[in-house]
Amino acid sequence: MTSNKTPPFNSKDDIAHFIGGALHLPSTSRFGDVYHPASGQVARRVALASKSDVNEAVASAKAAFPAWADTPPLRRARILFKYLELLNQHRDELAAIITAEHGKVFTDAQGEVTRGIEIVEFATGIPELLKGDYSEQVSTDIDNWIMRQPLGVVAGITPFNFPVMVPMWMFPVAIACGNTFILKPSPTDPSASLLMAKLLTEAGLPKGVFNVVQGDKEAVDALIENQDVKAISFVGSTPIANYIYERGAHFGKRVQALGGAKNHMVVMPDADIDKAVDALVGAAYGSAGERCMAISVAVLVGDAAEKIMPKLIERARTLKIKNGMELDAEMGPIVTKAALDRISGYIDKGIAAGAKLLVDGRNFSVPGSEKGFWLGGTLFDGVTPDMQIYLEEIFGPVLSCVRVANFGEALDLVNAHEFGNGVACFTSDGNIAREFARRVQVGMVGINVPIPVPMAWHGFGGWKRSLFGDMNAYGKEGVRFYTKQKSVMQRWPESIAKGAEFVMPTSK
Ligand code: NAD
Repeated sequence: MTSNKTPPFNSKDDIAHFIGGALHLPSTSRFGDVYHPASGQVARRVALASKSDVNEAVASAKAAFPAWADTPPLRRARILFKYLELLNQHRDELAAIITAEHGKVFTDAQGEVTRGIEIVEFATGIPELLKGDYSEQVSTDIDNWIMRQPLGVVAGITPFNFPVMVPMWMFPVAIACGNTFILKPSPTDPSASLLMAKLLTEAGLPKGVFNVVQGDKEAVDALIENQDVKAISFVGSTPIANYIYERGAHFGKRVQALGGAKNHMVVMPDADIDKAVDALVGAAYGSAGERCMAISVAVLVGDAAEKIMPKLIERARTLKIKNGMELDAEMGPIVTKAALDRISGYIDKGIAAGAKLLVDGRNFSVPGSEKGFWLGGTLFDGVTPDMQIYLEEIFGPVLSCVRVANFGEALDLVNAHEFGNGVACFTSDGNIAREFARRVQVGMVGINVPIPVPMAWHGFGGWKRSLFGDMNAYGKEGVRFYTKQKSVMQRWPESIAKGAEFVMPTSK
């Protein structure tokens, strides 16, 4: 069965930048290929910005800033309300674009768009969120209050795996706060950025408030080096997050840089085993494991392993892997050939290191789409903490099972890992659950919830090498990130009651 949704962006046009409210494609552009991973074909080309393209976008955002910053927050919120309405109308179109260029299944892409929409809903509350603190009479006749003001031009650099949701972690909050914004999406799946820009324009956003520069390292470096860019939000892999944090600090910018992950799910022997299997299969193989909150390690405590393993093998073998527009697809293709080769390479390394390969996803193919970037669900048992497949982020549909004797060992294992993005514990013991949540060294914790992505008003962020910087994405932390505090202290000279005056007033 195939979805009856309109296929996305049938246009073969080159994917341009969006600067000052219009598409922008210089004749001197370099280009990258954008693939349709389910067929393995090149779908379109994307322009790769030069330093001067980036500087043009920054100049446009800088010119738009004073008027936008002066626009009352309530009026900014009204534009976001209109944008919300348009996003809901175009939800399936955005989802179909994601499926075409990323490969994830259509229903999952719809979920991605919905989680992005929730941030816009949060940002419409900006008048309340920007409300300052006020202290009357801090000293005799003196009051003191705090206001939060926008930073200026801010930029967002985003990964391939959530081409709608991750940009929407950033720009709705940034522009609601009165900043102007430059998005640098992943060149792997850039089309959604232009539809988001088009809808913002239709919602009434003034020209230059939201801009898109397509591109690669050259565009990123130009954004970091431009002194008019005051803050950078980054989401992507840890080495690049680290680089952007250091370079951004060198140029005096505020930076939040969210990095990679290796998320563990601890299964206690008292857990509901069927629910734990459902959770593991969805969280390890959903979106082909290309989620920063995907579960890539199952920590099986005591005899949980014996109970869970046969069911897990069966489910990994029978995953429905096909074009994500097929409505019964559970997993789509891998995003690129390079990613497919990297993940297959990790499977080879796991075997060489002595892990037990129970389900092998290599050499998987979909009849009729043989050139697509296919990989089956892969399951390893007997993985140990010294193995590369345990230590490094694979970012694919590969689940590694590690067996431990007890809860303490499970907790020590999770806490010793260099990443600390998400984690889950499946148990029916309230005390274990409470101890786990308190003691685990990870930023986002699920108790019987495999992918605990915080809601729009709570903010998203990992610990350790999964987040460089002090503030989480979106939520109240997002508002703090995109504003700076100003404290005002005031005293007025005492008013002197003069009574009625009968003499012509003259200048004094
Ligand atoms: P990536 O680091 O390769 O790319 C992210 C962004 O950085 C892209 O816009 C890319 O164009 C740019 N970039 C790439 N190489 C660069 C370089 N050398 N210099 C400057 N910029 C560069 O990440 P990806 O492959 O697109 O996305 C997957 C990664 O993102 C995974 O590691 C995943 O865990 C991570 N991720 C993390 C979160 C989170 O919230 N922590 C969320 C989503 C994805």
